[in-house]
Amino acid sequence: MRTEMRVTGKSMAVGSETGLYDVRLGEDMHVLVGCGLGGGSLVNAGVALRPDPRVFQDAVWPGQITQDGLLDKGYNLARQWLAPASDPQALDHTKSQALSQAAKALDAAPSGSKIFAPEIVVSFEATTSSGGIEQPACTRCGDCCGGCNVGAKNTVAMTYLPDAVRHGAELFTGAKVSHLEKAPSGLWQLHVRDMAPATKSDNTERRLTATRVILSAGTLGSTEILLRSKAKGLQLSDRLGKRFSANGDIIAFGYDTNVPVNAVGVGNPIKDGLSPVGASVSAQLEIHDPDNLDNGLCVQEGVLPSSLAPMLPVMFVPNGRLLGALKSLISGVYKGPLSRLQTFFAVSHDSAAGQFELDRDHLVLKWPNAADEPVYKRLDAILGKLVGEIGGSYIKNPLAGTLMGHQPATAHPLGGCSIGTDASHGVVDHKCRVFAGTSDTTAIHDGLYVIDGAIIPRSLGVNPLLTITALAERAMLHFAADHGHSLNHDPVRPASPIPASEPGLVRA
Ligand SMILES: Cc1cc2nc3c(=O)[nH]c(=O)nc-3n(C[C@H](O)[C@H](O)[C@H](O)COP(=O)(O)OP(=O)(O)OC[C@H]3O[C@@H](n4cnc5c(N)ncnc54)[C@H](O)[C@@H]3O)c2cc1C
Ligand code: SF4
Repeated sequence: MRTEMRVTGKSMAVGSETGLYDVRLGEDMHVLVGCGLGGGSLVNAGVALRPDPRVFQDAVWPGQITQDGLLDKGYNLARQWLAPASDPQALDHTKSQALSQAAKALDAAPSGSKIFAPEIVVSFEATTSSGGIEQPACTRCGDCCGGCNVGAKNTVAMTYLPDAVRHGAELFTGAKVSHLEKAPSGLWQLHVRDMAPATKSDNTERRLTATRVILSAGTLGSTEILLRSKAKGLQLSDRLGKRFSANGDIIAFGYDTNVPVNAVGVGNPIKDGLSPVGASVSAQLEIHDPDNLDNGLCVQEGVLPSSLAPMLPVMFVPNGRLLGALKSLISGVYKGPLSRLQTFFAVSHDSAAGQFELDRDHLVLKWPNAADEPVYKRLDAILGKLVGEIGGSYIKNPLAGTLMGHQPATAHPLGGCSIGTDASHGVVDHKCRVFAGTSDTTAIHDGLYVIDGAIIPRSLGVNPLLTITALAERAMLHFAADHGHSLNHDPVRPASPIPASEPGLVRA
């Protein structure tokens, strides 16, 4: 964990630039994203949910999104490739039972509340991934958010990327795009920095020329690349950087509850004497409000990865729970109060009022009143009740006494290059083509696209990966039609499944 953690904040940066966890400390909000070949999918919990249909009725979306019938097709294709499934044993895990018991506190909640096993992009039986990689069955080790070392999680690296390679794509890692510009010839020039040059004196800046560029660097990455490109002269919509949403997302804890929870990952292979705990998320409490979409929320019980285990006792010290932390150090996190630690991943809705800007060439997130967004009070009230029901202390942020401060944090950043009807409402059109930002507000930059979480113009109220994938699939359907390409959705199968431990064989 120590070597894979990059933390950046105002005037500070520690850890490797290619670390798997990319933590951005902001003055108003912190953001956690995954960094690597496969992005956030490498470290996410894999929960794959479709939002309430009312989300897409918001006028912020261009009408074509719901009218051309391709959104459903996008979701179907996303499901075909990511193969989401519910754990058949989901509700047997102690952490799920703890959530069920906690939910008794909400008997008076709106009638739509229910507990169920959400679908996650995990294979519970040995199989071959859509990308042709051999997949052992999930061992229920709970380490999904530390990176699945078994190979059972359907990350982008297990699905789309190997297939892309078999279609002739070449993949390069350790390369950071700074910005792009349009050459007089109309071609795009990308400025790319080699993040691991062989020697310090090597020229690390490279230029790539392309007719078409699809930016998929995530909410923070794509927005930063376009903001920098704009600062260097590329004409773009004035909406660039706006409509940042944290997806009403928080991680919070119920500490030292009076029920067994067992929600710390047990490693691969599973550590001696420990039993499987279940994937990172097995059960979900959903509250549905038929009258007000914004009141809807999902509370998932979560497992912290085993790589965090040695840090957990220390994390809980600053909040005055020294005694518990000492007990945990003595008995290990699998026995003491930390074995009764319930982690909650909660998702709801916010106002998407955050804004990205460049400050001395670095991306900063501005959202001065973020902590006052009504969603946080709503979530605190509900999570506080849940924790109270199982006798624990509600902890919003165990690191609040450190450089983390009291700002909210999210692992679901959305927006910045939001989709819109024209350049006065968004940065990309419904086909994800970047608006030219000229007086003709529907004009687009030929050959420039953004396709990732940055295009989502509002909170989804559910975890975003399925929707990001569905919108990407939808954009590809348009892309193929617009350029006269045929699109075959069936994966190119290798002659025989490729062992997950041998990525070099991906072409076989
Ligand atoms: C711990 C955690 C748990 C989560 N759990 C869930 C979950 O259960 N379900 C769910 O739906 N969502 C979950 N999410 C969120 C989900 O993973 C993200 O929404 C999703 O991965 C975003 O996809 P993306 O394609 O927009 O960008 P990303 O997945 O962030 O990919 C962007 C990639 O671009 C790279 N990049 C960035 N800038 C540059 C640059 N300048 N040059 C080159 N490359 C660059 C990044 O390193 C990254 O590899 C979770 C996230 C985290 C961190
Ligand atoms: S529980 Fe373990 S084996 Fe299953 S998907 Fe998560 S990390 Fe992989």
